[in-house]
Amino acid sequence: MQSATLNRLETSMSALQAILMRIEKAAVKANRKFSEITLIAVSKTFNTQTILPFLKAGHRIFGENRVQEVKKKWPALRHHFPDIELHLIGPLQSNKVSEAVRLFDVIETIDRDKIAALLAQEIRRQNKSLKLYIQVNTGSESQKSGVAPHNVAHLLNQCKNYHKIYIEGLMCIPPLGENPATHFAILKKIGREVGLSRFSMGMSNDFETAIAFGATHIRIGSAIFGHRNNKKNQSLYG
Ligand SMILES: *Cc1c(COP(=O)(O)O)cnc(C)c1O
Repeated sequence: MQSATLNRLETSMSALQAILMRIEKAAVKANRKFSEITLIAVSKTFNTQTILPFLKAGHRIFGENRVQEVKKKWPALRHHFPDIELHLIGPLQSNKVSEAVRLFDVIETIDRDKIAALLAQEIRRQNKSLKLYIQVNTGSESQKSGVAPHNVAHLLNQCKNYHKIYIEGLMCIPPLGENPATHFAILKKIGREVGLSRFSMGMSNDFETAIAFGATHIRIGSAIFGHRNNKKNQSLYG
């Protein structure tokens, strides 16, 4: 191997290792098992050259927020690493559902009946098994995607009884500038009410708190890959 490649591999491995150690520490502190927490490495805006060393280091679970970007980046990587698990963590538009079902393994951002209906239809058409999450707008922010907390039970019911798709858990993105713990607690409470126990919550700045509140999936970008400089992609809203 070239020394630059080797360097990149080493840097990536230690970044990954550092995060895994922090996850383990947070799990122990919360009296939880490390093995019940899944790390989603959020690779949006980063190119294949940056992602590749993490795959070589053994990581397989990644998060992306744009269908178009995934179409460019991931098919080649998947070819070499067939056991990749890709999570869609950005908003899903109805005209992208078919591609999203084809490109992703987990869709975390179901937030309305129309999307659920289209997803159900595509999943059957492509005969693909996907894991699905409902995104909850825990802060009830008008500009943010996600179903309102009081509508989660209804949407879940529609998915189960009408569209016949299985929802595995709930996802949230706390509003900027607010205490994330409040929102993690809301998501957990909703989960209890509707009978779901998988929670995708927590990012680079707050994943330890999320683990304390029961996160089973944490989505970490910058703490693994470094700063993103593409402003447009940095937006968590849609
Ligand atoms: C970008 C993004 C993340 C990762 O954010 P970091 O602060 O870089 O860890 C997590 N979740 C969603 C939905 C995102 O869009």
